[in-house]
Amino acid sequence: MQDFVAIKGVDIELYDFMIGERKRQREGIELIPSENYVSSAVLEAMGSILTNKYSEGYPGKRYYGGQEYIDRVENLARQRAKELFGAEHVNVQPYSGSPANIAVMFGLLSYGDTIMGMRLDQGGHLTHGLGVNFSGKSYNVVSYGVRRDNGRIDMDEVRQIALQHRPKLVISGATAYPRLFDFEAFKTIADEVGAIAMADISHISGLVVAGVHPSPLPFTDVVTTTTHKTLRGPRSAIIMCKEQYAKDIDRAVFPGLQGGPHDHTTAAKAIAFKEAMKPEFKDYARQIVANAKALADELLACGFDLVSGGTDNHLVLVDLTHKGVIGKDAETALDKAGLTVNKNSVPYDTRSPFSPSGIRLGTPAATTRGMKEPEMRRVARWIERAISHPSDDARLAAIHDEVREMCAGFPVPGIG
Ligand SMILES: *Cc1c(COP(=O)(O)O)cnc(C)c1O
Repeated sequence: MQDFVAIKGVDIELYDFMIGERKRQREGIELIPSENYVSSAVLEAMGSILTNKYSEGYPGKRYYGGQEYIDRVENLARQRAKELFGAEHVNVQPYSGSPANIAVMFGLLSYGDTIMGMRLDQGGHLTHGLGVNFSGKSYNVVSYGVRRDNGRIDMDEVRQIALQHRPKLVISGATAYPRLFDFEAFKTIADEVGAIAMADISHISGLVVAGVHPSPLPFTDVVTTTTHKTLRGPRSAIIMCKEQYAKDIDRAVFPGLQGGPHDHTTAAKAIAFKEAMKPEFKDYARQIVANAKALADELLACGFDLVSGGTDNHLVLVDLTHKGVIGKDAETALDKAGLTVNKNSVPYDTRSPFSPSGIRLGTPAATTRGMKEPEMRRVARWIERAISHPSDDARLAAIHDEVREMCAGFPVPGIG
């Protein structure tokens, strides 16, 4: 278990916060779909002496000396990512998912070009063209969403929008979409209008490498992913692309946007890729999906409305409108019950993005702890009990006691 002895010695104030967070992670169930628990090996790399090094440039072409081992670390990470995803070219230097997406646009587009992505309030990401984001300020944005009647992306509508606006970049991928993406259909549409096809698989890359979600590779031109969500690596990202875009992407990352890569994170990514190649990881990914289905089915049985009626992946989007509770109050009540979720807009939400009507749930972190379908059904019933009386603190505390007891049987890597 991480005991933070050195930190305790220099900074007792911060130490207390870290102990508190460790306890929170151990005694609650993490249901935010973008979060996970990394392995002890990944944790070790992130807290290692590799953080001491500067290595601007790429392996063999650096602007600093002493790269004998760092070049090997980065080449190993690149090689493993290529193999894991079946990619032609990989850049492992992006600091996180948002900078990775910005690098793609910065490298392949001119300011003012038209891009097409999924609307944020229907499941897309900030960097897919939201007005206040770099992407929305620098490019002309057209968006697609989901159908009102079934909560699913309508590929005929996507094609119509693309034909009408002829974007230079077509982005597929989402942060809050519980169904499968038809990456092949997106590529066909991009080809039809002469656009570059980009897939942002941040949420689902762990499912993709395990074969439980169709892969956008090798046919999609550019694929970005964070490494810390279902892929269960360090807080970071990578960009994969066809060879013809490699130079522009690499130049956009460095020197276009970033300085020195975070070598300790690169090492942690290499480890995570190796872990994701193991047969156990396939079992893990299959269990994530089985757990999400069990959670969804039990929530439906408890009378909850789910966007699109269920899930094909790792997440469930709950529309609380008919329960008479807003997302924020549900999030707060569930926090008190030891169940960590986030409030989220639902498609065609009548409330504002700051106080939306839904909550988003996911199973990657709980599955890492070894929880399976019976535990997910318990989670759904706890959610029902908490949300039916969101201001009853005694009831919420009683649920947290039960949650804590169950969690004791499912240790967290690095915490116990
Ligand atoms: C999480 C996410 C990102 C951004 O990742 P950060 O590391 O938080 O910047 C980008 N795109 C999608 C689809 C995501 O889910």
